[in-house]
Amino acid sequence: MFDLAIQGGTVINADGRCKANVGVSEGRIVALSAEPLKAKRVIDASDCWVLPGVVDAHVHFDLSQGQGADADRTCDDYVSGPRSAALGGVTTFIDFAIQKQGRRAMEEIRSRIARAAEGSCIDFSFHGGLTNANQSTLDEVASLVDLGVTSFKIFMAYKKWGFGVDLGFVMQVMREAARCGAMICVHAENDEIIESSRAYYHELGHREMIYHSLSRPPVSEEIAMLDVLLAARETRCAVYFVHVTTEGGLKEIAKYRRHGLSVFAETCPHYLAFNDSVYAGEDGVMYTMTPPLRPPGHSEALWHGVVGGDIDVVASDHNSFSAKLKHKATGFFDVAPGLSGTATLFPYLFTHGVDAGRISPERLVALLSTHPARIYRVPNKGKVAIGYDADLLVVDPRKTFTARAADLMMGEGYTIFEGQQMKGRPLFTCCRGEAVVEEGRFVGEAGRGRFLKRLPVS
Ligand SMILES: [Zn+2]
Repeated sequence: MFDLAIQGGTVINADGRCKANVGVSEGRIVALSAEPLKAKRVIDASDCWVLPGVVDAHVHFDLSQGQGADADRTCDDYVSGPRSAALGGVTTFIDFAIQKQGRRAMEEIRSRIARAAEGSCIDFSFHGGLTNANQSTLDEVASLVDLGVTSFKIFMAYKKWGFGVDLGFVMQVMREAARCGAMICVHAENDEIIESSRAYYHELGHREMIYHSLSRPPVSEEIAMLDVLLAARETRCAVYFVHVTTEGGLKEIAKYRRHGLSVFAETCPHYLAFNDSVYAGEDGVMYTMTPPLRPPGHSEALWHGVVGGDIDVVASDHNSFSAKLKHKATGFFDVAPGLSGTATLFPYLFTHGVDAGRISPERLVALLSTHPARIYRVPNKGKVAIGYDADLLVVDPRKTFTARAADLMMGEGYTIFEGQQMKGRPLFTCCRGEAVVEEGRFVGEAGRGRFLKRLPVS
């Protein structure tokens, strides 16, 4: 007798699909069978797909963006953020513990693990964010890896906010990370190009949102990526580029990968869905994030990477600000950059990828579950297989819904997909065998999520 059986569905993994009943005991998948299974609870998944839960490798919950009195706070925390994620099929998130100036990286990580353990309904892990460019930060890398934090975020931009570091320190981190079995994840925008063009447009008196895009041109991403790719060649450190937005940047990543570097590319739904023409609209401010939306042509190149394999992961970069806070901006130079998105990640890619005929359901699973779990060395996630955690989604591929921030429990956040018809909202979701979503409604429990200790990168 199993604890749970999901009967009659088509199980979809990154490497293929089959008709199978899934048996779950003590939070793990213990049977995949053509025979009906006896269980305390049986879910009928006839005509539905059964997929591994989404591993959203890029979220920011409970973030204070900026320093001191200038900082903007996101409008979710470790209860509401994971709850909204779960409604969209996310069963594991990886957030960022970004070191504060003058504080140890370990302090931030420990404090975030404690808060997430108390609040989250789903499992979680953290990337470390190293911002204090000094020896004592480098000395912490080994002990952070021991704790299960095996990736470190580096900002090439945002020096003014106390996040960005110079290339010399990036190389030192890369050497130490490679030595300790860790990788780096990089926000690749060249700070000098951006700060000087922002100042230039500001001085000319421009306020319009299109300058958010014009002051952060595509070449600023390409230059930052090239710097890091050459540093990776020298240090042999594995690199994961978060939110890749440009055709040129993606081409460079693919080129260096062909040369044998361990380098990965992530993009986000907003870069696939929109271009910078939306900044001319009345609600242009609602589409502000960094890097910005790009001129026409880049989205198509990114889709090409999603379909063809140059993009490894699609993640949300969820960073939820309220519409009220967005509208406080007096110009392009003081917007709070970031968007909600973890709840719409799976439905967006399901609708515009699978349902639109661009990608197979297997590729969807690879991009959202299997690859992020494998690249970031998250044990027992990202696959429907015996021995893996029972993080499962039941999805009716024909059923449509209207995307609404309120239904997706985004709190004060909003969605740029508001009102769009989508598919792929899970009917049933379980995390380690326990239901978090039933009939599309949230039934999870705060505090049942666990910190996932990740393995060293080989
Ligand atoms: Zn981010």
